[in-house]
Amino acid sequence: MTLTSDQVKRLIETVAKTVIAEADRLTTLDQAIGDGDHGLNMKRGFEAVLADLDGLARKPLPDAVKAVGTHLVMKVGGASGPLYGTLFLTLGKELPAEAGLAELANALGTAFEAVKARGKSDVGQKTMLDVLGPVCDALVGASADPQLGDRIKKVATEAAEATVPMKAVRGRASFLGDRSIGHMDPGACSAALMIATIVDCLESAKT
Ligand code: ADP
Ligand code: MG
Repeated sequence: MTLTSDQVKRLIETVAKTVIAEADRLTTLDQAIGDGDHGLNMKRGFEAVLADLDGLARKPLPDAVKAVGTHLVMKVGGASGPLYGTLFLTLGKELPAEAGLAELANALGTAFEAVKARGKSDVGQKTMLDVLGPVCDALVGASADPQLGDRIKKVATEAAEATVPMKAVRGRASFLGDRSIGHMDPGACSAALMIATIVDCLESAKT
């Protein structure tokens, strides 16, 4: 599907405003197993994105996604800034101008691998990768039926929930060892939140 510049603007604006609105929840999660700044970090990054909204909306989608990645690298900080930055920068680089479902799955898969390399991490370690991985898997070979959006949102939500019983092996939460068990990973939560918001926006752009 090709998004109009109004739709690109709405997509970026909605994701940014949703992350900002949920910053306190992300921070509370990070207070339990990290240093309590994940919401604040993400809010700072997406405020920079909102400030550049008109500039971003003038770009074709792949360039806009890349530019979002640059804002996140520069503003989010912490461990998540370079990682989300890598995700969006790679996704933007890999997305063709006219992306169908297969191209999106491909580009997201490459972006996921780039985050893994950057974080020296993998699925199963209680990080954002535990949401991004299952979502990539669900998109590979998926058919564009009307239930796809709901399926992807369910995969993302359940994957974030599935980080609760995990023991953190990467990131700040790994310092807690077994005490990291029993809490949702903040980065898994922000990843699921962004994915659900993107799905909703793409669905409403279709109608
Ligand atoms: P910091 O941990 O530096 O305070 P944030 O609080 O903003 O940074 O982000 C923490 C989140 O980043 C974690 O919940 C986790 O999902 C993610 N994360 C941390 N380290 C890694 C890593 N090596 N690979 C993948 N994700 C990671
Ligand atoms: Mg933190």
